[in-house]
Amino acid sequence: MARETRLAENAASTSNMAGALAAQAESTVRIVDTVLAGVVERVEHDGLASSSSDRLRLHLRNMVSEVSELHGLFVYGPDGTWLVSSLDRPIAGNNADREYFQYHLKHKDRRVHVGKPIRSRSTGVWILPISRRIDNPDGSFAGVALGTIKITFFADLYDSFDVGRDGVVLLMLDDATLVYRRPFTEKLIGTSLAGGPIFQMYRDQRPVGTAILRSKVDGVVRMYSYRHLDRLPLIVATARSKHEILDEWQQSTMLLAGGTLLVVVILGGIGSRLVRQIMIRDQLEAELRIAEEHLQERNQELTVLATNDGLTGIANRRHFDDTLAREMNRAARTSVPVSLILLDVDFFKKYNDRYGHVAGDDCLRQVAHTLRKNLGRPSDLAARYGGEEFAVILPGTGEVGARYVAERLRLAILDLNLPHADNQGGLVTISAGVRTYHPDAGDVQEPGDLLTQADALLYQAKASGRNRVCGDLDGTDPTQAAFAG
Ligand code: GH3
Ligand code: MG
Ligand code: MG
Repeated sequence: MARETRLAENAASTSNMAGALAAQAESTVRIVDTVLAGVVERVEHDGLASSSSDRLRLHLRNMVSEVSELHGLFVYGPDGTWLVSSLDRPIAGNNADREYFQYHLKHKDRRVHVGKPIRSRSTGVWILPISRRIDNPDGSFAGVALGTIKITFFADLYDSFDVGRDGVVLLMLDDATLVYRRPFTEKLIGTSLAGGPIFQMYRDQRPVGTAILRSKVDGVVRMYSYRHLDRLPLIVATARSKHEILDEWQQSTMLLAGGTLLVVVILGGIGSRLVRQIMIRDQLEAELRIAEEHLQERNQELTVLATNDGLTGIANRRHFDDTLAREMNRAARTSVPVSLILLDVDFFKKYNDRYGHVAGDDCLRQVAHTLRKNLGRPSDLAARYGGEEFAVILPGTGEVGARYVAERLRLAILDLNLPHADNQGGLVTISAGVRTYHPDAGDVQEPGDLLTQADALLYQAKASGRNRVCGDLDGTDPTQAAFAG
């Protein structure tokens, strides 16, 4: 095989590997960020009053134990004090001096921030800080939510890739700060590689490239492939030593040149060389396949995190908003109605006051579970709309069907027989507003309109005594008496 062919073949495989490494890093950071986005949403909604921070601590701890990428989760106040964290013991301290804190203090943007690697003040290990800004309702700075990834997590992630004896795997910020290097050299973490070959290549060619270069760290000449992540300020690079690549080529060439050897020996040599080449290729493909599978698994988990409510496990507000918009569009295209039910637990504030927030959370979980269990069609969606409010979308369902479902849900909640001493009847009940979108009627255009109208009907249900459903049929349909509790 020609020397150039050998190098070109390796360029293709190192570049494939850089792609796989980039996908892994991207998925890792995105998973942590999805958890963070949920934490920010929660803190901005609930505030940081002491009663809710106990529950928040529990939530953070659950997330850290469920999501292997996460080392820790922290919430800081506007002055940098440590408010809530996933750690067992409460910690006093202030992180206002950290780069990520200063970043969010000075920047109003709500995007994820990938900070420089630092040594954790709480655990002493090297971590990569991923953070988001928390706002007050008026948009002023309320603090920072921080998720940390152990640098050694990347070591575990990247260990399965074979880059040869003298090969290198690198993860760096796109300002040249080194996050992880294999072979692992702790003292290099956080240092700048601005003068090194990869960063120079990146500056010239971005966002992907391959070249043969000499390392600044150990002087070895390698074939490097790097790739900037699509939406994150990170660069991954992988490299195999040129020496190693060409050694293999040289050995097979020398074998061919030694024409005096017995034909059978030559053939045997070429044969084994060929087998070896194929084995290397197969091994690389297998590694890429495993990485791909792992990634798909993580992406599925990521989807669950991004679309489901952390407390109840049913769809979250974001997922609800997307689905309602999609179903209304579909309804408009196909001229088939879609219905919306808004449900709200009756006197839930009193429930919390009497039984406590933990019991309150448990009650919400049971209500959510009951709603989901009592929906018939696969396209029906039950979501937590916020606090103790839920929403149900019923595609392809008109007034009568939706009213029927709403009544069934109301009765199913009653059937839970959850004691609520401050409610009429002494049990947990819900009130509901039902509204149907008829694309051809023209009175409703946007999801917002439908929500406003359903909310008005829910208010009506509350005002007229609670534990009941109000909907389009009220006052016009004589069958409604059949539904009255
Ligand atoms: P109404 O019958 O008029 O709906 O009265 P209500 O007390 O249910 O209504 P309100 O909206 O005034 O109070 C809702 C309460 O729900 C306030 C808040 O403490 C509680 N809540 C909101 N989210 C959660 C949660 O995630 N967990 C718990 N335990 N309580 C929550
Ligand atoms: Mg409410
Ligand atoms: Mg309520």
